Amino acid sequence: MMEWETVIGLEIHAQLSTKSKIFSGASTAYGAEPNTQACAVDLGLPGVLPVLNREAVRMAVKFGLAIGAPIAPRSIFARKNYFYPDLPKGYQISQYELPVVGRGQVEIELEDGETRTIGVTRAHLEEDAGKSLHEDYHGMTGVDLNRAGTPLLEIVSEPDMRSAREAVAYMKKIHALVRYLEICDGNMQEGSFRCDANVSVRRKGTEKFGTRTEIKNLNSFRFLERAIHFEVERQIDILEGGGAVVQETRLFDPDKGETRSMRSKEEANDYRYFPDPDLLPLDIEPAFIEQVRGSLPELPDEKKHRFMNDHGLSAYDAGVLTASREMAEYFEQVAVAVEGQAKLAANWVMGDLTGALNREGREITDSPVSAEALGGLLRRIQDNTISGKIAKEVFEAMWAGEGDADQVIERKGLKQITDTGAIEQVIDQVIADNPSQLEQYRSGKDKLFGFFVGQVMKRTGGKANPAQVNDLLKQKLS
Ligand code: ADP
Ligand code: MG
Repeated sequence: MMEWETVIGLEIHAQLSTKSKIFSGASTAYGAEPNTQACAVDLGLPGVLPVLNREAVRMAVKFGLAIGAPIAPRSIFARKNYFYPDLPKGYQISQYELPVVGRGQVEIELEDGETRTIGVTRAHLEEDAGKSLHEDYHGMTGVDLNRAGTPLLEIVSEPDMRSAREAVAYMKKIHALVRYLEICDGNMQEGSFRCDANVSVRRKGTEKFGTRTEIKNLNSFRFLERAIHFEVERQIDILEGGGAVVQETRLFDPDKGETRSMRSKEEANDYRYFPDPDLLPLDIEPAFIEQVRGSLPELPDEKKHRFMNDHGLSAYDAGVLTASREMAEYFEQVAVAVEGQAKLAANWVMGDLTGALNREGREITDSPVSAEALGGLLRRIQDNTISGKIAKEVFEAMWAGEGDADQVIERKGLKQITDTGAIEQVIDQVIADNPSQLEQYRSGKDKLFGFFVGQVMKRTGGKANPAQVNDLLKQKLS
């Protein structure tokens, strides 16, 4: 495994959250009865003409500006021809040679603290196809055209990623970005955000890329990661066995954890792209671009750098905390409550809070412990009322709805013992009760220090101030 290098490029499809479709007035709302939201244009009936949705263009421009890409003053819609039951016109309207968004880039941050820049080749506007329904019909396939004509932004990356981890970090970054920009709801279960992963391997040190395969339609970060791992191993096995990787499209089966061939290059479609004669070129005025630029919110990377500078956080922590606007806002509120101890706030938001949310599958906006309440708890660690360990117990009680931090501390009698005299008394008892450990410690078995700390904490129900226990024990034992 060591001598191979993985190369990955992603094509991400983000469904733009416009109210109506990209070329018609039909609604884009998810979950309606099949075929109730497809009008004559979406059905491709003869004699109809597509009319471009200005809002979809505005959203694409927003994305382009956010990744520092040039916006094409003129781009062209093209027909991509292929035959499929859920594609009524027999072609998909997309952009081919002249996309609306040119080359840009995003930063990703990895757990080891490293930051990398990933190139975005282009992003273009296109319409989605309908959906084939195989489950409810015996021996037949249903076709639901509600999704036909839904606006998509296809975001194509450079083959810049070198591991599944990097691919996941990149997909998460684009996901964060489209949600910050409010151009896509990011709902992966409903298919509003999905990707195709292009994967190849090459011997370390070689420059030429290996033959790639394309894994279609991955709609979760976990699936992306697993699909890449499987695919990389499969390709390495083939190459080490003296074979050659076939360029093809593959599907990931989450139940089996493997990818399967869909169609090879020889069977691939020739899409016969050509400019759509029903649509004028898309001309974008500089004034429109400036207006969109003025509407941009603080972006994830800007926020990330601000968190690093203002709060002294690492790139990784700042990256995690800015993954969503809601998480970033929550963190900032907590950090304000414990001025000067942003790292404490970060650890709690990324640790206990995120853990509890994940455990119950809740969103941060729906957390039973508000940012204000968590700030109140952390202030009690800060002013030495409770230790960090006891705080975890208080947090669980707050989570269960037992009141705010002060109420829980009071009711459960969890206030930290900081009275030196009281702690000394317990230490004396512990020493008196453990003469043999004392002797061993004094004859050089330093490790036993931890034992004494443990005994004191146990007798005080974890409430003794740990720093004081350490200091006093050192004095008494020496
Ligand atoms: P196509 O139009 O046939 O899908 P592109 O050249 O536009 O092909 O590439 C599509 C995606 O595949 C891009 O994200 C690109 O970065 C990626 N890609 C291209 N070559 C490789 C390769 N050898 N290994 C991995 N990814 C690749
Ligand atoms: Mg492709």
